[in-house]
Amino acid sequence: MKPQIIFFPQVAAAAVAAPPWTTPNPSSVLEKRESGAQNIFTCAAVNWPPSAVGSLNVPQTPPADLQSMLAQVDPANIEATILKLVSFGTRHTLSTQNSTTRGIGAARDWIAAEFRRYADASDGRLEVDVVGYEQPADGGRILFPVRISDVVATLRGTESPERLYVVSGHYDSRVSDVLDYESDAPGADDDASGVAVSLELARVMSQPGYPRPRASIAFVAVAGEEQGLYGAQFLAQTYANATPRVNVEGMFTNDIVGASKADDGTVDPYTVRLFGQGLPPLAVEDAATRERRLTIGGENDTPARNLARLVKEVAENSATGMNISVVYRLDRYLRGGDHRPFLEAGYAAARFTEPHEDFAHQHQDVRVDTATGKQYGDLPEFCDYGFIARVARVNGAALYSLANSPGVPRNVGVNTTDLGNDSTFYWDAPAGGEDGVGSYEVVWRATPAPFWTHALDVGLVNRATVDLSKDNVIFGIRAKSPDGMRGVAVLPFPAA
Ligand SMILES: [Zn+2]
Repeated sequence: MKPQIIFFPQVAAAAVAAPPWTTPNPSSVLEKRESGAQNIFTCAAVNWPPSAVGSLNVPQTPPADLQSMLAQVDPANIEATILKLVSFGTRHTLSTQNSTTRGIGAARDWIAAEFRRYADASDGRLEVDVVGYEQPADGGRILFPVRISDVVATLRGTESPERLYVVSGHYDSRVSDVLDYESDAPGADDDASGVAVSLELARVMSQPGYPRPRASIAFVAVAGEEQGLYGAQFLAQTYANATPRVNVEGMFTNDIVGASKADDGTVDPYTVRLFGQGLPPLAVEDAATRERRLTIGGENDTPARNLARLVKEVAENSATGMNISVVYRLDRYLRGGDHRPFLEAGYAAARFTEPHEDFAHQHQDVRVDTATGKQYGDLPEFCDYGFIARVARVNGAALYSLANSPGVPRNVGVNTTDLGNDSTFYWDAPAGGEDGVGSYEVVWRATPAPFWTHALDVGLVNRATVDLSKDNVIFGIRAKSPDGMRGVAVLPFPAA
């Protein structure tokens, strides 16, 4: 068929009235998009090639029960959690585990008790485990053998409980000297804020009044982050080495999501960054696969990056009140995070972090500079609890769609046996089978476009031909639930 030049049919997003609980988002981006005047997934530079098939890929409208859940996310609870965690003085990984009022052991026990309180109210949906191991001295940031404990509250899914999504924050903290385990290290932003996100989402999403998700969600607080990502590494390896290997189809770490004000005074309380890695480590994707990926221009469509794209589609709306700035990068320079051990274990993972950081309020001894009068230290007074609540809503919206989606299709391939100007794809059902699949979608975008611009619902099939050349766009295949919840799109590799 000859290419036709046509205008894309504009598919209007369903109107979502701004719920009264959200703070109005002053950025014009959301209003413009929700008015249907502009789709933020498109921009003029990436409008080629024109397509006679499919329709614009519009953001996913949050369903009513999700909107109700997100409305319950309470900044006052988040504040109370952060103040409580700060009250333990220090939560350094090497601090005491023999006190009920000070140190990381007390913090661990309080977090576990809090999760158990939610579990008691969950009608058996939420299970709480404290898991861990003895980490020997490592000649670096671990001075002596220490117990590293992760607190894990798992909301069991209904149809595919073996498919898991993880949301995590780290409850350990530090001051200027990473080996100083005795000085007060409030760690309000880094990372009581991320722990508060895990706790608040566990509380809200496990309530018996809501339908259980199809897949499971683990709400997690880990230790050992500042000493070398030990707690997250233990958890990722525990999942990866289980028999059978736990199918973690998405992991988010919320680390430094507590403040919206930069050190220069810039305030940006309606944006959160989401860091999504490009090429996976070679230990995860072997050299031959990487070579094929590079040959087909798939370096920007790794599982982590397509996870980030999904978040943008389902969690940037008036129910969260947030803009999501996806950063195509593993992490910030000189920094690390708990998504990394999950990536290294072969799981798709990404990191949420506040839009601008104030480094006077991270990894600093609590002090007032005598010359300038400036306050240093990671203190609660610098937190923005409304902002953290919105970050929690972003996580909640993403986890809801993921855990109610059918998961990722398997063995996704594109036929490259003949030259041709159309494209034929094959795939197998997600790991949980076809039961939870309502239909599949082929999605695509121009190669320089950041997000999926087009979608074509092809029904409940395992093969589809699209009248568009695979040479000119990047394609993905994704599965939707019968009620339309999207999963992550998967890049097709050449198949026979
Ligand atoms: Zn941190």
